[in-house]
Amino acid sequence: MHYTHITVAGSGVLGSQIAFQIAFKGFKVSVYDISDEALARAQDRIEALKPRYQEDLGATEKDVAEAYQRMSFYTDLAEAVAEADLVIEAIPEVVQLKTDFYKELGEAAPAKTNFATNSSTLLPSQFAEATGRPKQFLALHFANEIWKNNTAEIMKHPGTDPKVFEDVIAFAKAIGMVALPLHKEQPGYILNSLLVPLLEAAQLLLVKEVADVETIDKTWMVATGAPLGPFAILDVVGINTAYHIGQAKASATGNPEFVKIAQLLKSDYIDQGKLGRATGEGFYKY
Ligand code: NAD
Repeated sequence: MHYTHITVAGSGVLGSQIAFQIAFKGFKVSVYDISDEALARAQDRIEALKPRYQEDLGATEKDVAEAYQRMSFYTDLAEAVAEADLVIEAIPEVVQLKTDFYKELGEAAPAKTNFATNSSTLLPSQFAEATGRPKQFLALHFANEIWKNNTAEIMKHPGTDPKVFEDVIAFAKAIGMVALPLHKEQPGYILNSLLVPLLEAAQLLLVKEVADVETIDKTWMVATGAPLGPFAILDVVGINTAYHIGQAKASATGNPEFVKIAQLLKSDYIDQGKLGRATGEGFYKY
């Protein structure tokens, strides 16, 4: 199916970016959220996106104004999805919330409508049954700052219809994404399956006092030609996120080296206001 009407459910950080990107590429977009307050916050976010599209992509004022014209906003789910070919779900990463949402959506949406989840950590098979239409459901995962970091990881669950998979891949390309198909379910998709172990290994080398930050990064960059080493990447991700991952790993494994990682990130970085690139300093100064 060639999609023309898209609904984005959940208009927070990612949902508002996804909706605006799709509208920018010429599609009609319905934005659904639970309250007028949430939609008002989304409209503020979208206002703030317009100059970013002008600066980063060379879009004109007319381009971004026209994109906004293609968007409409709803708090009634049935109205929001009445014409939808595809619903992209970007509601909070909470299993019960998503399960309840898919049950309601499955009943409200026309039979033709396909569903995609933008979930970062939950697998589509977890919600396939709740949708009432498992064949028409999969994951379509975007990255933050979608207009620049334009990856779209498209992941089937075992029951996804291959035709729906192909249609969503074609749609991702049509909205300016680099489409990255995953033929099997994989927690963390491709990117985090590669990145999380790399960043973890780098932090372990540091707390084991094998080498310092600069040497670890330099090794990776010189040997592989990568533009950034793992600690420079951690500064982009943000030290808070790294700390939460380290802490979770420490309590899941009881490994004292992960406890050390979490302690180091807290005392030497977070408590000093060094949260990474966003604050001008993390492992490096910017
Ligand atoms: P967010 O908290 O910024 O936004 C969530 C939005 O969903 C809010 O506007 C909220 O009002 C709305 N909402 C809550 N319950 C709802 C419901 N029942 N129906 C409709 N809307 C509802 O969250 P976010 O960071 O945009 O993340 C949303 C999803 O995107 C999560 O699954 C997350 O894993 C994924 N994601 C996030 C990022 C990121 O960098 N933030 C990146 C990729 C994927």
